[in-house]
Amino acid sequence: MDLVRVLETALGVAGVSAGALGYAVRVPSSSWIAPSVHRGTVVRPAIALTFDDGPSESTPELLEILASYGAPATFFECGANVRRLPGVARQVAEAGHEIGNHSDTHPLLALKSADFIDRELSVAQEAIEDATGHSPRYFRAPYGVRWFGLRAAQQRLDLTGVTWSAIALDWKRQTPAVVSRLLKGAVNGAILCLHDGRVLEHHPDIGVTLQAVRELLPRLIEQGFHFEKVTDILCPTKN
Ligand SMILES: [Zn+2]
Repeated sequence: MDLVRVLETALGVAGVSAGALGYAVRVPSSSWIAPSVHRGTVVRPAIALTFDDGPSESTPELLEILASYGAPATFFECGANVRRLPGVARQVAEAGHEIGNHSDTHPLLALKSADFIDRELSVAQEAIEDATGHSPRYFRAPYGVRWFGLRAAQQRLDLTGVTWSAIALDWKRQTPAVVSRLLKGAVNGAILCLHDGRVLEHHPDIGVTLQAVRELLPRLIEQGFHFEKVTDILCPTKN
């Protein structure tokens, strides 16, 4: 996908700079289109592990690895995947992890109507509530791309946008590259983005992600970090 080209086509007539808008819609630290956070408190050596695009058939294997380190995480799930695997979504919640909203069908929100965006968020919200009994408080935009209408949808559903401070590229890189990217991004309050699914794919191969987590967690612990859910890492006063 060439987002800048899509934006140029859409905005060329209006004379708006697609470069600047491209920055606003997809740079993780930009909050111009819709408010979002990309990093937690820096007062503790805490890291938030976040996993997008689940639940998938391989999520339970990831849960086992996290459990072996007592590491809580946050899962940004797609409504369609939750309807397909409600038992896995429930298992994630029951293991004590936080579940966020990652839209219903993982569309690129750019150029979509406010109604479409609102529906994507609310249908996913409902699917997650139905499966787990918990109502997400955080939203992560598919591809990190935000668009007009998202601000209102987030407000209506009481969702805070969350991007990331480091992204694993675990869907296209090999394990050593993923581990080294994330180790570089390991700072107080880091929000690391990995994937326990691959968009809406059934039985996705997330072997790189699983192996990266196996290698990463002991190394981060050795460096003195501990893990917190998004809710906790955003709170400076948590012990
Ligand atoms: Zn995603």
